[in-house]
Amino acid sequence: MTEQYRPTKAVISLEAIKKNLTVFQEKSGDAKVIAVVKADAYGHGVLAVAKAVIETGVDMLAVATPDEALFLRDQGIETELLVLGATPAKFIRVAQQRNIIVTAISLDWLSMAASHLEEKLEMLKIHLKVDTGMRRIGIQLDEVDQALGIIADHDFSFNGIFTHFATADEEDSSLFNQQVHAMNSVIKQLEDPSVMVHVSNSAAAIMHPELTSDAVRVGISLYGIAPSPYVGQEMEFHLYPALSLETEIVHVKKVKAGEALSYGATYRAARDEWVGTIPIGYADGMLRGLQGQDVLVNGQRTPIIGRICMDQCMIRLSKKVPVGEKVQLIGRQGEQQIFIDEWADRLETIPYEIPCILTKRVPRVYSESAEVSDLSFHKLDKMVR
Ligand SMILES: *Cc1c(COP(=O)(O)O)cnc(C)c1O
Repeated sequence: MTEQYRPTKAVISLEAIKKNLTVFQEKSGDAKVIAVVKADAYGHGVLAVAKAVIETGVDMLAVATPDEALFLRDQGIETELLVLGATPAKFIRVAQQRNIIVTAISLDWLSMAASHLEEKLEMLKIHLKVDTGMRRIGIQLDEVDQALGIIADHDFSFNGIFTHFATADEEDSSLFNQQVHAMNSVIKQLEDPSVMVHVSNSAAAIMHPELTSDAVRVGISLYGIAPSPYVGQEMEFHLYPALSLETEIVHVKKVKAGEALSYGATYRAARDEWVGTIPIGYADGMLRGLQGQDVLVNGQRTPIIGRICMDQCMIRLSKKVPVGEKVQLIGRQGEQQIFIDEWADRLETIPYEIPCILTKRVPRVYSESAEVSDLSFHKLDKMVR
């Protein structure tokens, strides 16, 4: 990586990711783990994550888009790659050439793909997506026969069949059960036992280990994040958060009682206060809605005060600290830990969004440390409500 002069960075523990993966590999018994590394590995940096999970025994990666798959192939990743989303006609030949598995998302897609197959190349590998209730992409339940017919009539390499749950992370399991039931009846229609069946995302893999299949698709929890507060509360094992976000104080001053600061002068000091400025702002993904969120300085919680600017924001210090003091925005410092879930709560969103919105300007740095803190998961139990 080229040298960075700004101290703001996301530190990624590949060791944590490997531990999480191992947890799922053990939990899933005979089923394989497909590591979901779409969206730049949920913001953790896809190349490093891909290499780490391959080292830990994963033999299939899933991405969302054809471009994400090609990026990995271009970087020399030779593991099986599945594109979960739609792929256009002009990608069919590329998928054949580069050994990329594509998802059959509809009858029209199957006909389109059939008409673009290049006989001289390797057969196109497909996984058939069945819409059992998510209503996003996939063959409709009453189209399964027809889909299997088109597949049988053409030179596809029919390697897998899958569905996706809409509510696996929720307490109410009625739609989930309906989807399981629908998928079971689809699987019964399959004649070829070598077709790989995969249904579970992280939440289903955690909450419904009894579901049998050939593989589980684990995304969010590979990165040590619970899919929802409900799952976080119910799960009987620990995850290891992989991402920390840190920076350093670049400016320190005293603000007098009654003085305001930052855009809009929305914050006014109640008394004389020490104020630090940190070089991170909404252009880094630290959205303005995080005003009021704590950061950690010297192991203490310290609030962000005033509006968050594009590149900087201010924090209220309990005492004068030197420029260069380390600030932990996500992760652990001393006895304190700030989880991604806490940001998600404040932004009234789901934890998935948080690592994804950290922009490219924040370098992803990989920690060499093999140590994964105990504290991080003990507190996760308490934190995720
Ligand atoms: C993103 C995605 C997953 C992974 O889901 P997580 O909740 O992150 O584990 C699995 N399957 C499909 C089809 C997906 O799009």
